[in-house]
Amino acid sequence: MADGSGPFDIVVLGGGSGGYACALRAAELGKSVALIEKGKVGGTCLHNGCIPTKALLHAAELADQAREGEAFGVKTRFDGIDVPGVLAYKDKVINGLWKGLTGLIKSKKITVIEGEGRVTGPNQVTVDGQVYEGRNLVLATGSAAKSLPGLDIDGSKVITSDHALVLDRVPTSVVVLGGGVIGVEFASVWRSFGAEVTIVEALPHLLPLEDEANSKLLERAFRRRGIKYELGARFDSVKTTDTGVVVSLENGKTLDAELLLVAVGRGPVSAGLGFETAGVTLDRGYVLVDELCRTGVPGVYAVGDLIPTPQLAHVGFAEGILVAEQIAGLNPVAIDYDGVPRITYSEPEVAAVGISSAQARERGFDVVELTYNLAGNGRSKILQTQGEVKVVAERDGRVLGVHMVGGRVGELIAEAQLIYNWEATPSDVAQLIHPHPTQSEALGEAMLALAGKPLHVHN
Ligand SMILES: Cc1cc2nc3c(=O)[nH]c(=O)nc-3n(C[C@H](O)[C@H](O)[C@H](O)COP(=O)(O)OP(=O)(O)OC[C@H]3O[C@@H](n4cnc5c(N)ncnc54)[C@H](O)[C@@H]3O)c2cc1C
Repeated sequence: MADGSGPFDIVVLGGGSGGYACALRAAELGKSVALIEKGKVGGTCLHNGCIPTKALLHAAELADQAREGEAFGVKTRFDGIDVPGVLAYKDKVINGLWKGLTGLIKSKKITVIEGEGRVTGPNQVTVDGQVYEGRNLVLATGSAAKSLPGLDIDGSKVITSDHALVLDRVPTSVVVLGGGVIGVEFASVWRSFGAEVTIVEALPHLLPLEDEANSKLLERAFRRRGIKYELGARFDSVKTTDTGVVVSLENGKTLDAELLLVAVGRGPVSAGLGFETAGVTLDRGYVLVDELCRTGVPGVYAVGDLIPTPQLAHVGFAEGILVAEQIAGLNPVAIDYDGVPRITYSEPEVAAVGISSAQARERGFDVVELTYNLAGNGRSKILQTQGEVKVVAERDGRVLGVHMVGGRVGELIAEAQLIYNWEATPSDVAQLIHPHPTQSEALGEAMLALAGKPLHVHN
């Protein structure tokens, strides 16, 4: 029997996107929930991830606009970045959201336990010697920044995104190791803030998981912005000096900079937490689950970055909700991970949902695709942004993927994901009216063209 309060219907270990979404939905469904969190509820996304990075990116956008006012006939001048001011703005956003989330959790009568939990049985977690028992256990301990063998993070010259988010200055120069989403977003911020930036990516393109055409467009845009990159280049070693770092690549090149940001991915937080005690199976630290986030041990589930599904906050939310609904006896459907929208919030933005044409061909689809250049889109011209919307569809069938590059295109993915997830055909969408002048028309135009009735298409 538990010597803490309980037993609860559900004990959730970790109060990030996955864990708190599960707790909220379960409480809504009448379940008693204990949510154990060693830091702050909201987790990585709210405190060290999505929200702070997007605040920095917004400040970066303002810096660019201040520089570019003249092109729009507006007298503006970029006088530099007030780093304490940017950090205060970022922290204000985080704290406001955190306060809201804390209040929401409280209002649902979820028992929040502050402290580091360790699994001590298939249905119990111990925190500071106190045992919390649950009829169900949800593991949601998230992820942490990874490094490479022999690459030590010192937190001052060799840093991760956690350090970058509280950096008290704009570095004069940075090497960003890793051209994935996190590396690309920081490169974008720092360049807008005035730093010299070089990205080192071992694979042939930036954002290697995206459609290659999108990656190439981003690379072109970054080149124009003066962001340098070394593609297909593997890190060899780093030396710290009095003034910064010297990064050596396997191809013999060396890069000098004030800072090295290590953005080579994130790994699951599971070591030493007693998960084996619950009988769950781990693979490279990830908890293995089936399509309904079940670990194979009755009543034990895992969600979010701890399991090998896309490391995105909205995936964590969806998995948390899925688990809560299962426990409450509803019959939720498994998540189609291809249908999860993905956005890189750099300048320009890159957004996608569904599969690429290469993946569609591999899966045996007879593929048609259409690329609509934002040069033909009035609103994009007004914003002076370049890019494109590419739609991949099955011949005479449903839309299989939408891939976009350009300023603000991230907002368009909400419509694209409905199109994909509702299995719409281009003709279904073509008959729906898009408001003029909006960037959403680019998506509408692509669908019109694929449906055989192009409007503003030059070719
Ligand atoms: C720089 C950066 C930018 C990002 N930007 C985006 C973005 O724009 N959009 C997006 O969708 N995703 C983004 N992500 C990813 C997103 O943050 C994660 O996918 C999401 O936070 C995962 O949620 P989670 O609940 O699985 O884990 P986490 O948010 O990491 O939460 C896990 C929680 O568990 C707690 N915990 C761990 N161990 C214990 C223990 N033993 N006892 C008690 N508590 C414990 C931790 O303190 C933490 O609060 C970004 C990530 C980073 C790092």
